[in-house]
Amino acid sequence: MQAPSVGGVMLPRGNGEAIRLSRGASLTDFAEKINANPASLVAVMMNLGEMVTATQSVSDETLQLLAGEMNYTVQIVSPEEEDRELLESFDIEFGEDEGDEEDLVVRPPVVTVMGHVDHGKTRLLDAIRKTNVIAGEAGGITQHIGAYQVATEVNDEERKITFIDTPGHEAFTAMRARGAKSTDIAILVVAANDGVMPQTVEALNHAKAADVPIVVAVNKIDVEGADPTKVRGQLTEYGLVAEEYGGDTMFVDISAKQGLHIDSLLEAVVLTADASLDLRANPHQDAQGISIESRLDRGRGAVATVLVQRGTLRVGDTMVVGDAYGRVRAMLDDNGNNVAEAGPSTPVQVLGLTNVPGAGDNFLVVDEDRTARQIAEKRAARERNAAFAKRTRRVSLEDLDKVLKAGEVQQLNLIIKGDASGSVEALESSLLQLDVGEEVDIRVLHRGVGAVTESDIDLAMGSDAIVIGFNVRAAGRAAQMAEREGVDVRYYSVIYQAIEEIEAALKGMLKPEYEEVELGTAEIREVFKSSKLGNIAGVLVRSGEVKRNTKARLIRDGKVVAENLTISGLRRFKDDVTEIREGFEGGINLGNFNDIKVDDVIATYEMREKPRV
Ligand code: GDP
Repeated sequence: MQAPSVGGVMLPRGNGEAIRLSRGASLTDFAEKINANPASLVAVMMNLGEMVTATQSVSDETLQLLAGEMNYTVQIVSPEEEDRELLESFDIEFGEDEGDEEDLVVRPPVVTVMGHVDHGKTRLLDAIRKTNVIAGEAGGITQHIGAYQVATEVNDEERKITFIDTPGHEAFTAMRARGAKSTDIAILVVAANDGVMPQTVEALNHAKAADVPIVVAVNKIDVEGADPTKVRGQLTEYGLVAEEYGGDTMFVDISAKQGLHIDSLLEAVVLTADASLDLRANPHQDAQGISIESRLDRGRGAVATVLVQRGTLRVGDTMVVGDAYGRVRAMLDDNGNNVAEAGPSTPVQVLGLTNVPGAGDNFLVVDEDRTARQIAEKRAARERNAAFAKRTRRVSLEDLDKVLKAGEVQQLNLIIKGDASGSVEALESSLLQLDVGEEVDIRVLHRGVGAVTESDIDLAMGSDAIVIGFNVRAAGRAAQMAEREGVDVRYYSVIYQAIEEIEAALKGMLKPEYEEVELGTAEIREVFKSSKLGNIAGVLVRSGEVKRNTKARLIRDGKVVAENLTISGLRRFKDDVTEIREGFEGGINLGNFNDIKVDDVIATYEMREKPRV
């Protein structure tokens, strides 16, 4: 076959065959798959108007573009797929229960509360917790771990329900976006005095898209003007028809504030689960599940709440959660009690992980520490690549020099690490709201809970980012690495202070304004002629000081006769000096400029950046 040539480089050419590349692959990865020289792919991209280096991670589009040019097709492997393949290479299957029908036992439904802001989600979660039959016995401290379990009686049988207790439906959406299914049933809270609102619809759509049955809690029925019937009518338009109207959605009128009908709501959840779901899991296998919330605790290290979805998690188990791993040192339930094991649908807080996993990361128990470490490390590497791909800025040849010359686009790249997901998010959103004019963009390339790691520094290096550590420090060799590579890592413990400093830094990044500052004046007493240097002024410095390499103008009889000169040589007696101060004599050479006379004044100045106010 005829090999095409791009910019004089011969290229391998495909027959449209598919090559598999993971998200964030580089041209070198690509070249390896088709047995080509990476440099030739760089040349192709250059020809297509894009500058990329051989080892840099590139975007999906770039991979597609490149493949198209050479008559290949690419199949970008999603992180989820890749993860499945990674686990398969260790002979682990994630997401399926082992064994047969008879190994499965009924498990409690896992519920997420969703709805419009202020309709009472938080209040409802509190109210449910208060009626908690299980907690009643403990009489102890209830603890917020991101999820809790309650029991309720339905048809004389005690039934448990697990609630995910993380703010809003962001967590739900975030987890779903990552392919993690954490929720069996959604409770849609609608305030009876307010009716269906935009976020009600949004929540409803999320639940539908995830194929999660909905129970509607019509809240605030204690408020005057509450109209539960109207809510039913409104929701009909969105396909949620109440049972009493012949539909199959259960509506329960409640007051989270007064604790009214909370039991009926719990019953509706159980009945909905029984009617439309077959919630069973095998408790007799290595535990698997999903992480819900995690943070770094000063005393206890990484603390992660996980929801067991199948199997039983035990103290002493070796587990991998996202890119964290470790042996379970201790487990706490939602009442703060130590527990030795946790079965399907049970949320527990786990101590003993190497670092803090993200919300929605899957977890699994493996036989050997080594396996856990290898899986975690592979995942960390993959994440790093993906992050690189995300930040890759595409600059085309046409506008490259334009952008650089004009300095129009300036961007502050940030990496934010913090002790809890809440504070990281709060900091991020405040920073993104900073108003620093149109000239500067703030971009958060990466955020996460936990210490500043070497991989954060890596990312910062590649993208000229500043790293912010909020209530966390650099771990391991990250600090040395940052120092060595000149990466700016800033630590804060007060959000306000972080914002103030970043704002100041941004102001510095704005195109500077300059003002002229006079440095000194020198009076010419004598003119020497040098064959090598031209005319040299013998001067007496009258004010300030005269410095080498600063700007100067020549003044004769009070008028400026020459501008934009440079003090290119400065001497005292036979020595070259860098400055001559007021009251001293010396020699000045103005480079090529020779038109000087006795009694002329050389005034020197420099341009200084004006501080912004
Ligand atoms: P969220 O934004 O959905 O989490 O809403 P919140 O749970 O924070 O509730 C918003 C406001 O409504 C708070 O002031 C609650 O006290 C109030 N609220 C919640 N449920 C009820 C209720 O059943 N009756 C009344 N009167 N107020 C309620």
